Amino acid sequence: ASAASLALALTACGQNSEGGSEEKKGGSDSATIGVAMPTKSSERWISDGANVVKELKAKGYETKLVYGEDDPDQQVSQIENMITQGVDALIVAAIDNKSLDNVLQQAKDADIPVISYDRLILGTENVDYYASFDNEKVGELQGTYIVDKLGLEDGKKGPFSIELFAGSNDDNNTKYFFQGAMNVLQPYVDKGELVVRSKQTALNQVTTLRWDGGTAQKRMDDLLTSSYRSTRVDAVLSPYDGISIGILSALKSDGYGTKAKPLPVVTGQDAEVASVKSIIAGEQTQTVYKDLRQLAKVASNMVDAVLNDKKPETNDTKSYDNGAKVVPAFLLQPVSVDKANYEKVLVDGGYYTANDLK
Ligand code: BGC
Repeated sequence: ASAASLALALTACGQNSEGGSEEKKGGSDSATIGVAMPTKSSERWISDGANVVKELKAKGYETKLVYGEDDPDQQVSQIENMITQGVDALIVAAIDNKSLDNVLQQAKDADIPVISYDRLILGTENVDYYASFDNEKVGELQGTYIVDKLGLEDGKKGPFSIELFAGSNDDNNTKYFFQGAMNVLQPYVDKGELVVRSKQTALNQVTTLRWDGGTAQKRMDDLLTSSYRSTRVDAVLSPYDGISIGILSALKSDGYGTKAKPLPVVTGQDAEVASVKSIIAGEQTQTVYKDLRQLAKVASNMVDAVLNDKKPETNDTKSYDNGAKVVPAFLLQPVSVDKANYEKVLVDGGYYTANDLK
């Protein structure tokens, strides 16, 4: 048997493999790629896992797909296990972007390349490439949507009330999303055309640990009680659909959603089914669609190139400094979606069927 098939046989027996196979790809000697996803609690990561596995299989790879239940320690041990089992490369969407230093050193020692998937892993040189979207652009699309929808661009002066929500503080994307949105919103805040009545405007005041919808709902409840007894909220910047759904629940419990008290503009991200349905029903206003099929292609192409000693295609070699190095990236473009264009973008684009959204 070749070194590679021996390595695979050992892997199949659950024993340690020393790796070191020369021919990584193709036929019965196909390499195995470990894929570590953060959670099954959000639809997007379930699609990511399935899409990545599909792409890798189409290229002749074996795969091991694991989900970390939003628990950083669990993710570390899952990755450790895959290294021990002798995977040939790793694709990792981190839960806590600073928790993977040690385990990625183990990957490096075992000569296993690492692709950082969607979320940049920080503080270690042992990240080879980064596959993601233009994360700042995601926030810009949300901010721009709010400004347009309130009519501020048309010279409507407000003042309008807005509240701000951001993602998990252990996710590197969070600050890019928030920064992108604030690049657009801050000038209107400075002019007094947008007013954050809670005065919670700093990133560390508005984050939502692990992107949890329930946590966001609780915070929105508190904001409505503390700052909106005598006036209404006109817009809520929400970074992610699961958070938007939580915010909308709080708003509806507070009597929003009637003719007399319409819901505010509420943004989102990921175009998850529940949120697209909410958009169709006139509740959530917008989401940012990221074509996860494309992301899976980019990440699997990166793995395939690295394992075949080729240079993966990148389109950004400056923006993503992880503290130890600038990680070469391929960034895809996000798209703003609302009631007016969801059919064209999501249904005609083949992302969902019309039936999925009924
Ligand atoms: C992803 C978003 C997602 C969020 C919560 C971020 O890192 O880029 O697409 O909404 O995590 O899962």
